[in-house]
Amino acid sequence: MLKNIIKDIKPIHAILVGLVVLLGIVIVCLIAKSLDISDLITKTENKTFDSRQVMLVNNKIKKPNKDIVIVTIDDASYEYLTNKYGEWPLPRSVYADLIHFIEQQNPTSISFDLMFVSSLKSSGSADNKLADAMNSYDNILTGMNFDDMSYDVREPINLPARLQLTVTNKSNVDFQNLTFTNCRPILSQIINSNTKIGILNIVRSSDGIVREFPAVVKYQNGYYPNLAFLTALNYQSKIDKKSYNEIIIDKNANILVSNKKIPMNKDGGLILNWYGPSQGLTYEHIPLYKLVMQMSGEKIKEQYDFKNKIVFVGTTATSMADVKSVPITGAGETYPGVEIYATFMNNFIDNNFIKKASTPANILITILLVVFVGTVVLKTNSTPIAVFTAILTILGYTLLTYAAMIMNLWLDIVVPVLSVIAIFVIAYIVKYIIKSRDFEHQYKLATTDGLTELYNHRYFQDQMRRQIANCQRYNNEFSMIIIDIDHFKKFNDTYGHQAGDAVLRQVAQTLKTNTRATDIVCRYGGEEMSIILSNTDKDEAIYNAQRICKEVANKVFKLSPTQTTHVTISLGVSTYPHDGETPQQIIEVADQGLYYAKEHGRNQVGLAVYNENPPTEN
Ligand code: GH3
Ligand code: MG
Ligand code: MG
Repeated sequence: MLKNIIKDIKPIHAILVGLVVLLGIVIVCLIAKSLDISDLITKTENKTFDSRQVMLVNNKIKKPNKDIVIVTIDDASYEYLTNKYGEWPLPRSVYADLIHFIEQQNPTSISFDLMFVSSLKSSGSADNKLADAMNSYDNILTGMNFDDMSYDVREPINLPARLQLTVTNKSNVDFQNLTFTNCRPILSQIINSNTKIGILNIVRSSDGIVREFPAVVKYQNGYYPNLAFLTALNYQSKIDKKSYNEIIIDKNANILVSNKKIPMNKDGGLILNWYGPSQGLTYEHIPLYKLVMQMSGEKIKEQYDFKNKIVFVGTTATSMADVKSVPITGAGETYPGVEIYATFMNNFIDNNFIKKASTPANILITILLVVFVGTVVLKTNSTPIAVFTAILTILGYTLLTYAAMIMNLWLDIVVPVLSVIAIFVIAYIVKYIIKSRDFEHQYKLATTDGLTELYNHRYFQDQMRRQIANCQRYNNEFSMIIIDIDHFKKFNDTYGHQAGDAVLRQVAQTLKTNTRATDIVCRYGGEEMSIILSNTDKDEAIYNAQRICKEVANKVFKLSPTQTTHVTISLGVSTYPHDGETPQQIIEVADQGLYYAKEHGRNQVGLAVYNENPPTEN
């Protein structure tokens, strides 16, 4: 069926569909502009993205990397360690010990999603111990935050150049929303050592959900790597045995690192793929207090292995509330910040960052879908097939977008699907209009005469039956006039058939202009015409017939631009129910009147027949 439809497409249909598509696009744009629904579309599109992510996670399509582990400051650690040390935050020496402890097992890296800021709690010796521990290894990374509070009383500080990443940005991504003007510095001992410091700022979509993560942010015209990106660069440096202090963003906004090509969104964020739920269900959670117990010689039953592990340290305790909403968390659920860093790292290792299909690609897809559905709707005569095609197209395309997401490609759903629905409705309306116009055309062909454009004989007969039925029902009367052009044979012989045709047309026109809108003027046959006058008694009909007779006799008929002539007509009149019950009887009486007029000199209404030979006596 579909094959036939596609085979049948003619250029005119393609043009028609094209115009309809254009109309649809214009309408959609106008509506979008007037209602400012682009934000609504973006939000809805984001929701469809979330549902695709939930599908990936529920079906465990992306496997989390087992080398990524999280040392968590969970609720139990908070309780245990506050008891043990009698204070919170913990003395920084605890983290120093932790670093040395984990480093014994040769981890790939340890990244702290924590900010070791100067505060009243700072103690010079513990802070120094932490800074020294960090500085003793080349695989320790810690975090710092930028902000852009213009009302801040703090003077923005200059950071050492070593914290910057050299970025060659060939794209048009301007990092406008990732540019910060102020800085919340951490311990100067750390800033001024060799420890790697990553930035902890994140971005949220307008609905508060974290879908993207910045790889780099800007501060004082310099680029600074995010903690997760810095961890990733550190990881890649170890594999490639070369340092990545410089990165290139190509003109298509891909970050080039090693042999990886990481797609960056228009606003500078990398769109994350999600691997599973938080709280140890995706990445192994190692509670900090267990490690502290081990460090202080207590026996614990767990054996933690840090060899070659990419370690993130961060809080998951509800009391510390470092939590965000992400696409796979339901309403009210949250995802600890540190797990988002782990997720970023996993995306980097597996090259899984999501690429958004470009706007031209999305437009092309939309046009293809719209042309397909529009063509089918216009071509098919079956509404079920049209509806089925539209639904199947939407379902099929949606399925395709889910499949694409498995391959890390985000194809738009909202605009293409809305466009398909819109084109379905528009094409249906257009088709209805075409159909009804076609019907009108066919109806006109079937009921009118081509030469005079009067109603034809068949229509006349139909109307006669109708009038009789109507008059019977409402106890009413109607009249008819039959008209014949006088000496028309001779006229044809003298002037030719062409001139005869011209006169026929002009007589028809004269009849039309001299009757009421409710009167039905027909070509009875040859040069004979008839008029049905509904709701008209005999006297009124005779009066009208005489008037028409005079009009025609007085009219100047044009045969050519230079030649004119006069013609006359003879007329007969009859009335229902006075002259008969059936169409035949009524026509017969009118014919007799006509015959009488011809007999008595033409150019008149044949009335005498009623005096000499009344039809009631027939
Ligand atoms: P009468 O006054 O008695 O009616 O004389 P008449 O010549 O008109 O006789 P009649 O009505 O019998 O003749 C009909 C003529 O009308 C015959 C034919 O040549 C002419 N005629 C019929 N239909 C057409 C038409 O469509 N075009 C033209 N040009 N002539 C037609
Ligand atoms: Mg005739
Ligand atoms: Mg005639």
